[in-house]
Amino acid sequence: MKTTYLKTNRLLTPLRKIAWIFTLLVGIGGFFYPKLGLLVIPVMLTLTLMAFFKGRYWCGNFCPHGSLFDALLPLSKNQKIPGFLKSKWFISAVFVFFAVNLTRKMLNAFAAIGTPSFWDQLGLVFVTTYLMVIVAGTLLSLFISSRTWCSFCPMGLIQTISAKLGKLLGAAAKTDVKISLSHPEVCRRCEKCAKVCPMQLKPYLCLPPTNQFTDAACIKCAVCTVNCPAGILQLAKENGIPAAKESQNVKAV
Ligand code: SF4
Ligand code: SF4
Repeated sequence: MKTTYLKTNRLLTPLRKIAWIFTLLVGIGGFFYPKLGLLVIPVMLTLTLMAFFKGRYWCGNFCPHGSLFDALLPLSKNQKIPGFLKSKWFISAVFVFFAVNLTRKMLNAFAAIGTPSFWDQLGLVFVTTYLMVIVAGTLLSLFISSRTWCSFCPMGLIQTISAKLGKLLGAAAKTDVKISLSHPEVCRRCEKCAKVCPMQLKPYLCLPPTNQFTDAACIKCAVCTVNCPAGILQLAKENGIPAAKESQNVKAV
């Protein structure tokens, strides 16, 4: 059956409401002050490290581009994201394109090392990359669905790999949070959680024995938790302890 996606507020925290300002500051302001692009380096390091412990939590709660795309939701056509954009080969192809492009630009910038313009040239590498994501992601947001870019974002793939490593090494066992179904027997199978999910996932498909949603594409934004009419979804650790304030907005059944 065809799913009709619903528009609902995703800017659930003060940070998510304003993080998009950073995107425009770097992607546009960086052309006037290129060193702003250097701010992207700590961002990349932080999201990679965070993913090691919490999966794609960054994407749903801190990402400045994600904040911009969520803010564009009222203007989005909010259509189904085509399956091929979520396929492994497409995600890999975009990653390779980005990696090659970034490496080429970095090598050009490093040719100027030791000169007064070096830091500006290095900053500009990230400014132009940021702007490219703003333009491509905004067009996809408007004409398909607001988080279309996030389905194949190279930073998303880096986080997925980092999260797998964290799980493999046992680092994420105590820190990761997942969507959890507290009372599966109460689920109405209304699929509202799937209709509001920015990544167009199906969080009601939590699997026993833990009744947690294990899809690596989940950005842990908690939008499904505040929209479930039965109030049975929450972000929780493996031991079931609720993890985020917004995920505790559980309504009476
Ligand atoms: S919104 Fe809640 S009740 Fe409806 S399908 Fe999802 S988990 Fe079940
Ligand atoms: S399943 Fe829930 S927490 Fe995960 S991306 Fe979808 S709405 Fe966000």
